[in-house]
Amino acid sequence: ANRIERDVVIIGAGASGLTAANALRDAGHSVVVLEARDRVGGRLWTREIDGATLEIGGQWVSPDQDALIDTLAELGLETYSRYREGDSVYVAADGTRTRFTGEIFPVAPETAAEIERLIALLDGLVAEVDPAAPWDHPRAAEYDQVSWKQWLSEQTDDVEARDNIALYIAEAMLTKPSHAFSLLQALLMAASAGSFSHLVDADFILDKRVVGGLQQVPLKLAERLGDDVILNAAVRRLEWTGGADASGADGTPIQGVVAYADGGIEVAARRAIVALPPNLFERIDFQPALPRLVQQAHQHLSLGLVIKVHAVYATPFWREQGLSGTAFSPYRIVHEAYDNSYDGDPRGTLVGFVSDQKADDVFSLPAEERKARILASLADYYGPEALSPEVYFESDWAAEEWTRGAYAASYDLGGLSRYGAHQTTPVGPIHWSCSDFAPEGYQHVDGAIRLGRTTAAAIAEQLRG
Ligand code: FAD
Repeated sequence: ANRIERDVVIIGAGASGLTAANALRDAGHSVVVLEARDRVGGRLWTREIDGATLEIGGQWVSPDQDALIDTLAELGLETYSRYREGDSVYVAADGTRTRFTGEIFPVAPETAAEIERLIALLDGLVAEVDPAAPWDHPRAAEYDQVSWKQWLSEQTDDVEARDNIALYIAEAMLTKPSHAFSLLQALLMAASAGSFSHLVDADFILDKRVVGGLQQVPLKLAERLGDDVILNAAVRRLEWTGGADASGADGTPIQGVVAYADGGIEVAARRAIVALPPNLFERIDFQPALPRLVQQAHQHLSLGLVIKVHAVYATPFWREQGLSGTAFSPYRIVHEAYDNSYDGDPRGTLVGFVSDQKADDVFSLPAEERKARILASLADYYGPEALSPEVYFESDWAAEEWTRGAYAASYDLGGLSRYGAHQTTPVGPIHWSCSDFAPEGYQHVDGAIRLGRTTAAAIAEQLRG
C-alpha cells in the first residue's frame, strides 16, 4: 500500500473540497485531496462535444455570489454576460405561445396579480428565515410539515399562478416535484439566494458565465495543489478515532483518521473533510459507524433530478426574431430555456432543462424518441428551426456514479427542521463540506466555496489549539 501522512485528508475534488484544501495549505497545513473520478470539478465539467464547448454541469454566476466572485478574481478568471436582448416566451397550459418582457409571465391580469401577491408574500416570509439556521425560525417545525405544493394550494385557487410560483423552487431549483419537499425547504432555497424575487429574476440568478467555463475554478485550484490531488482514488473506508458523539464532545480526544482509497492508497491524517454530496456519504464505510443521529440524518437527504439539454445551431436564429432565448412553461417538457451561446463561438446554443417526473418520463423512451420530444418542446418556444441542431447533448448526472442526480441535495418533508442543525457538525475528526449544506449559495458553487472556507477555518483553528 501507498501510505501517505498529512494534517488533513480531503475526500472529493469538487469546488468545496479544493477550496478547503487550498485554504488549509495557505494556513500552513499539509493536505491531500482524494478524488474518485479521473478528473477534478465534480458537478462542474466543461466538455468538447462534436466540436462544441459545452458546460455539462454548473455554469452561471449571480451578482450576490461574492465568495465565487472573489475566487474568480483571485484565479484571474473573466466573466461574460448571458445574451438577453429581446422578448422572452411563455407557453400556457393550452399551448398558447406568448412573447413578453419583464419577469411576470404573460397571463390573465387576475393571475398576474395573484403571482405578484404571492411573490410579495414569499419575500416577506423569506426575509424572516436565516439561511444559516432555518430550523431556528419560530414556525420551522410547522413550515417543515407542509409541502410546497400544499402550501401554495392553501394560498390561492388560481392554478396557473400556483404552477408558475411552484416552478421557481420545484422544477427550477430543487428539481423535485412540489409535493416532495416542505415550505421550509423552499424558504431556505430562496433565503440562500437573498429573496424569492431573486429566483424569479432570471437576469439576476443566471447573470454571468466564466470565460473557459466554470470548471476553470476547480481546475485552477487543483493546479495549485499539484501532486497533492490524487485522481482515480475513490475513498472506500474511513477509520476514525475520538469524539464519538455527534457534537464531538463526549470527552474522547480526537486522534485522527485513516482513509483507504482505490489504488492501494492509505492516508493517515489528523482531520478529514468529506466533500461529497450527502447522498454519497454512505458509500464510504465509516469505522466505527457514525453516530445514530448522523446516520439517520443522511438518510433524509436526496438529490433532485434534471436533464440539462444543449442544442447548438448554425446561427442564433431566435435573435433575428427579436427573441432573447429565455423561455418558460410549467406545462412543457422543457420548463425553462435560455440562450447559452458560448463566448467566441459564432454558432447559437440553446440550453433547456427537463426536471423531476418529466425527466423520468423522457428517460423511459429510446434515446432518439427522447431527443425528438425534447426538441419539439424547444420548437414550441422558438419555432421549427429548433428541431434541427448541429450538435445535441443531454447532461445526465443521475447516471454518473459519483453524483447520482442534479443539481443538489434537499431534505424530505420534516427533515430540515429535524436534522438540519446537525448537518455540518463534525463527528470527531470528520468534517463535512459541500454546496448542499451551504447557507448562502445553497446548491450553488458559491455555497460550495463558502463552506470550503468555513470548514478549513474551523480545522485550522483546532489544529492550532
Ligand atoms: P461536487 O462538485 O459534487 O464534488 C464532489 C466530488 O467528490 C466529486 O468530484 C466526486 O467525484 C467526488 N467523490 C464522490 N465520492 C467520492 C469518494 N468516495 N471518494 C473520493 N471522491 C469522491 N451551480 C451554480 O452555481 N450555477 C449553475 O449554473 C449551476 N448549474 C448546475 C447545473 C447542473 C447540471 C448541475 C449538476 C449542477 C449545477 N450547479 C450550479 C450546482 C453546482 O455545480 C454544485 O453545487 C457544485 O459544483 C458542488 O460542488 P461540491 O464541491 O459541493 O460537490
